Amino acid sequence: MNAATQAAPARELNHFIDGRRVAGVSGRFNDVLDPALGRVTGRVPVANVDEVAAAVAAAKAAFPAWSETPPLKRARLMFKFKELLEAHADELAELITRDHGKLLSDAKGEVVRGIEIVELACGIPSLLKTDFTDQSVAGMDAWNLRQPVGVAVGITPFNFPMVVPCWMFVMAAATGNTFVLKPSERTPSASIRLAELFMEAGFPKGVFNVLHGNRHSVDALITHPDVAAVSAVASTPVAEHIYGLGAGHGKRVQALGSAKNHLVVMPDANLDQAVEALINSAYGSAGERCMATSVAVAVGRTGDELIARLAPRVRALRMGAGINDKLDLDMGPLINAAHHAKVTGYIESGVAAGAKLVVDGRGVAPPTGYEEGFFMGGSLFDDVTADMRIYREEIFGPVLSVVRVPDLASAIALVNAHELGNCVSLFTADGATARAFTRQIQAGMVGINVPSPVPSAWHSFGGWKRSLFGDHHAYGEEAVRFYTRYKSVMQRWPESIDKGAEFALPSSK
Ligand code: NAD
Repeated sequence: MNAATQAAPARELNHFIDGRRVAGVSGRFNDVLDPALGRVTGRVPVANVDEVAAAVAAAKAAFPAWSETPPLKRARLMFKFKELLEAHADELAELITRDHGKLLSDAKGEVVRGIEIVELACGIPSLLKTDFTDQSVAGMDAWNLRQPVGVAVGITPFNFPMVVPCWMFVMAAATGNTFVLKPSERTPSASIRLAELFMEAGFPKGVFNVLHGNRHSVDALITHPDVAAVSAVASTPVAEHIYGLGAGHGKRVQALGSAKNHLVVMPDANLDQAVEALINSAYGSAGERCMATSVAVAVGRTGDELIARLAPRVRALRMGAGINDKLDLDMGPLINAAHHAKVTGYIESGVAAGAKLVVDGRGVAPPTGYEEGFFMGGSLFDDVTADMRIYREEIFGPVLSVVRVPDLASAIALVNAHELGNCVSLFTADGATARAFTRQIQAGMVGINVPSPVPSAWHSFGGWKRSLFGDHHAYGEEAVRFYTRYKSVMQRWPESIDKGAEFALPSSK
């Protein structure tokens, strides 16, 4: 046993309610693992209904004063929060890597993306500005305002322990709401540190609370009578469940789900760039990204060349423990043994269905010192067809499928027929092709010669079809709309009603 694998003392994580860490009292816990070591490093409590009630009560108590706080004052606190996140960026990245397994460089990138949401929130006074119509009707002005919805809750997935919570609580708090986050039980550590730094920035207690738990805690949270809005990012069956349950209880809900992202390679594309994009986007973070490419669509005769260039690159991928930043690594382990078995099962199903397994990542030796870790090499399939499970379902692992189609129309038809529509990319040298593709494709995010087109903080993020349930995308101006209620006001002052009461509806006659 080397230094890397020596046992560290297991930690017990806390909830964060009303401005302080609170130990779980349900007596139930989930294990937290280090995926590189394949070992338990801590345990996280599972909230019962009383703990759910306490977290919601803290958020509810904080709401009246916080919602009345001027946006500029909220923005000043966001500036302070941003400074603290920057000062603690390395610490946050390490927490992410230890829970998740992703490379430290990747985790640092996630911290930056989280900070970018805070930077967006620093401009909240401008984002909350509304419209005004002078003289909407003679003597009467019309305007609108956006008011916070109340207590909002967030349910987040394991793969982005900082940035997805930031999409939610940062924008909710900036718009005057209070918040309860239920982070993934598999990657819970960063959320507690975020809550502490949020308090240190000067936000009032109760504005941002963190409650750990399982699906029962989630159901109790989203049906709680004092909760007004629910944001969720999860696998599609869970997102659909949360959307149905929340909406059925009268909540405003946005629930982002799974992905099966295609990258279409046209015959005129720069193949060097397309191959580079596919390697980074399919295998980065071991494929555990909702923006990962999992299908390469080879148009015309590009298939053979693409496979010939991809295969040696996939075989050469370097796996290792993400925490070893000094090593030149490409990807870390999968999240846990169950997920490793699930990805293995998909590879078996692809072989059984007749797809050609060009590179087999199963059985690739784990790095020395990390033999118990959940490592898997990259896999590459050719001749995948739309009826196969490996094509239809999200694998969420380092597996890329190549589907061959004769022309652009077939590529568009293939993508549009898939039930998921998170993001899609096109590699081409032709502007007209790109324009037609952008307009016809059914997905929420499109990249032209860009893989994994994650929108900047001031745009908005979200998929179409069964990749998103609800009406609003995440962050950007969409988040301002989601976390506020629209109110329309018509105003007239006494001087203008000296003729007495009018019984007709106001109109611009
Ligand atoms: P998951 O669906 O297993 O869990 C997500 C969250 O939902 C967790 O907090 C979990 O505790 C909770 N949950 C799980 N089962 C539940 C149930 N039955 N009822 C209520 N709550 C439940 O997802 P995951 O494995 O943590 O994350 C990976 C998934 O998230 C992938 O499908 C990925 O595509 C998706 N994802 C989507 C986006 C996006 O923006 N569309 C971003 C990141 C991840």
